[in-house]
Amino acid sequence: MGELSELFAPNRIAVVGATEREGAIGRAIMDNLIDEFDGEVVPVNPKYDELFGLQCYGDVGETNADLAVIVVPPKVVLPAMKSAGEAGIQNVVVITAGFGETGSEGAAREQELRDIAEEYDLNVVGPNSLGIMNTDVGMNATFGPDMALDGNMSFMSQSGAFITAVIDWANDEDIGFKDIVSLGNKAVLDEADFIETWNDDPDTEVIIGYLEGISAGREFIDSARDVTKDTPIVLVKSGKTDAGAQAASSHTGTIAGSDAAYEAGLEQAGVIRAESVQHLFDTARVLGDQPLPENKDVAVITNAGGPGVMTTDAIGESELKMADFTDETLEAFSESLPAEGNIYNPVDIVGDADNARFKEALDVALADDNVGMALVLTCPTAVLDYNQLAADTVELQEKHDKPIAACFMGGERVDAASDVMKDAGIPNYFDPSRAVDGLEALSKYADIRQREYDAPTEFDVDRERAREILETVKDRDETRLGVEAMELLDAYGIETPTGDIVDDPADALEVAENIDGNVVMKIVSPDILHKSDIGGVKVGVENEDVYDAYEDLITRAKNYQPDANILGVQVQEMVNLDDGVETIVGMNRDPQFGPLMMFGLGGIFVEILEDTTFRVAPVSETEAEDMTKEIDAAPMLRGARGNDPVDIGGITETIQRLSQLVTDFPAILELDINPLVALPDGVKAVDVRLTVDPDEL
Ligand code: ADP
Ligand code: MG
Repeated sequence: MGELSELFAPNRIAVVGATEREGAIGRAIMDNLIDEFDGEVVPVNPKYDELFGLQCYGDVGETNADLAVIVVPPKVVLPAMKSAGEAGIQNVVVITAGFGETGSEGAAREQELRDIAEEYDLNVVGPNSLGIMNTDVGMNATFGPDMALDGNMSFMSQSGAFITAVIDWANDEDIGFKDIVSLGNKAVLDEADFIETWNDDPDTEVIIGYLEGISAGREFIDSARDVTKDTPIVLVKSGKTDAGAQAASSHTGTIAGSDAAYEAGLEQAGVIRAESVQHLFDTARVLGDQPLPENKDVAVITNAGGPGVMTTDAIGESELKMADFTDETLEAFSESLPAEGNIYNPVDIVGDADNARFKEALDVALADDNVGMALVLTCPTAVLDYNQLAADTVELQEKHDKPIAACFMGGERVDAASDVMKDAGIPNYFDPSRAVDGLEALSKYADIRQREYDAPTEFDVDRERAREILETVKDRDETRLGVEAMELLDAYGIETPTGDIVDDPADALEVAENIDGNVVMKIVSPDILHKSDIGGVKVGVENEDVYDAYEDLITRAKNYQPDANILGVQVQEMVNLDDGVETIVGMNRDPQFGPLMMFGLGGIFVEILEDTTFRVAPVSETEAEDMTKEIDAAPMLRGARGNDPVDIGGITETIQRLSQLVTDFPAILELDINPLVALPDGVKAVDVRLTVDPDEL
């Protein structure tokens, strides 16, 4: 693949399927290009010698262009691409729809398109794309109605219609862009290619996107980690709900992954996820225009008490905090503010504050090393000039080089002030929580830039033994394994209680006699998913009751499902649950991100409690450790109510070892260790179940 920067800055663009026919897409694109493009535009259409007063070519191969925009019917797209490839035209935008999004014939055509792209080493956008834009060279190679304004954001979208709506709105709001790409079906170029290109582009300060799916999740995480060290990425990902995911899948043929995987994947990638379109642009603008804060401490300067409280609440709910001022700052405030004011944060400079008092307070606050950023909060009064305050805010922002968000409340009187600040990149909102969101995004991104990504630990494991155990599914009708596969965990160094599986009560007793104290007995059958639901788990069985317990377990299983495949009974060492916490460590495979690790509060109520957290595997030690901190029940692990803390290091290691197992064996489709009992002096995997795809072994 050639340099993608050429895609956005061509000298000569061929429009394959150009026409003067009103209402045709080939016409709209020609109009858009002729209007503003700095370079040359060449129409291609075998039916004409001339179009729009320009020489028209019969074949794209004759045009000597460096970008071909293809709008011909689906059947002629592929020959046109070949012709472009033969002629050495490396960049192709396929506007035409009727590929992967339309069923099997279209999907086959899309595969052919991919093959041609590979053969000729083409950069292909689309198919099913609105086109691309670059404001630098005035290129509007789309069939949308408007050209975007100049700016420092580059924007990719899986929905072309959304691009047209955004441009219409952004033009009103004075928001500009550098490059825009409508990704279409992403047959060749996908989101990872564009973030890498824009990271290398000095004119792109922020990357934003609307995605319905991510093509190759793990690869995206790895390249986004690189990119977000220099260039922030903010994405809105739709298809959050099941209904939304369904809609996305019929829209661009995206296979919906789970939202948990996205949430985890984007977080691991250092991508900031926006919750709404408004949030997307609020975030992108501050990231593009404001410096990053050195800490999370906000100074709020206000002339109004009530809004000060609202702002304090919003900061309390965010990951930011109210700054504690130094003694010097407090002293300075005491001297300059009236007695009825508040020198502590939020700093209330009182309703009669004029511009001079406001400016001085903000200056003092910003000079304080304990202050990372400031929020200027104000309500209209007769003694305060908003335009002057805006100018002062801009001046002080430049002087101190710290982020500032403004919250000048009011109606029309705010407009002029707001414009002054907007020009300096200071956002102004009526609602304090939006201003706080902006500051929070800056702080989040400052953290992302600081992140160190450690490589996953490689444990010494017995891979061959694990393979043998997994291969036992080949001799079976079903693909599920239960506690009979416990040795799989041993092979990867995950501790399990002593025990054995037997198919005879006398053997059960023998196993029990070799274990200290009472035992646990469980039915072993791949057909019984939740053993305790059918009374298939007996805890605290004394040796003298082992015979009866054995018979009872078998009877229950047979009653439950007469044709169940019963492998026997597991006799297992008792784990002291009183001192421990039942946790769950699991994995399922996401269609886009691959193996997704889960950690949470375990036991038989997992589904009800749903106290879980996720990471895309393979996970590093830091990521595994973070998982143990993220669940609501985390304080239980650290020892709540007089209990000893459990072995969190042991949990962390188990998550990593399991992550290695599922990464080593793509054949494992899902796996749960539930419970993994975490004790003060170690962890024990008490139960396991998994599903294996024998074809992947
Ligand atoms: P299932 O999940 O199929 O019902 P488990 O083996 O997870 O079967 O057992 C269910 C519950 O029984 C566990 O969550 C735990 O509370 C308890 N239990 C199972 N095995 C042991 C053991 N070895 N020591 C102590 N408690 C156990
Ligand atoms: Mg269980």
